[in-house]
Amino acid sequence: MKFTFKLAVLILAIGVLLSCQNKTEKTESANTIINEIPSINHDAQDTFYQYSIWFAFVNKVFDGNLTVKELKSHGDVGLGSFDFLDGELVMLDGIAYRIRENGEISVGKDDDQIVYADAAFFEKEDSFLVEEPIKFTDLASKLDAKKKSPHYFYIYKIHGQFKHIKLGGVPKVERPFTDGLDVLIPNRPVFDAENISGTLVGFYCPDYIGDINARGHHFHFISDDKKWGGHVMDFESSSALEVQTDTKTKYKFDLPVSEEFENVDLSKTFHYN
Ligand SMILES: [Zn+2]
Repeated sequence: MKFTFKLAVLILAIGVLLSCQNKTEKTESANTIINEIPSINHDAQDTFYQYSIWFAFVNKVFDGNLTVKELKSHGDVGLGSFDFLDGELVMLDGIAYRIRENGEISVGKDDDQIVYADAAFFEKEDSFLVEEPIKFTDLASKLDAKKKSPHYFYIYKIHGQFKHIKLGGVPKVERPFTDGLDVLIPNRPVFDAENISGTLVGFYCPDYIGDINARGHHFHFISDDKKWGGHVMDFESSSALEVQTDTKTKYKFDLPVSEEFENVDLSKTFHYN
């Protein structure tokens, strides 16, 4: 007993000494950082962030290693898909929602992994109304008319009521992955909702992005009651749509670090438009 007590005191003393040493080191490194970086870096706020590339996603790179927590460090709005296509992703106000193939919606956990995503910190730059009724197929031209130039990147938050909205999910896949998006997307699960209000989260890439990302507009939806969500396939509005826009002039992407990505055959192409 006596020996155990002495041992405990010794361990405690070593612990106190080590923690003092760590504090000293942390203070020194903090000072060093302050000296090296004279101004705050706002790059993350101005950047359109993307994880993986569209070309890889189309060609069956379905096992990514970006976590929800990491995605949130790149933005507070976003869209994409979770690993193994186990749900579509839509992020609004810093909350990443997962919409599974049966339509069930949950909030993504910090360590949930993502296979493909767009994200950005949304800073409202302009806002305008699109009068009802408008169909999804006519939305792009309304947004294009307000763009300074088609050569920049744009992020959208669009809120309104919808007489009808058609949303696409993704079917969960298992190894070995046999079909790419060119086969899976035309056969995706579809959710139809009537008389519903919610927000479209949109990302626009200029055509010159090629196969790095989806060209043009890409929208995901989450209802106000958080019971409906997915990739926007069609809609008809029943109220004026409140459009908020944000132009981005910086673009960044991270590539998956995996054998799958290293060896992927990038021969197939597939685009929504
Ligand atoms: Zn989508």
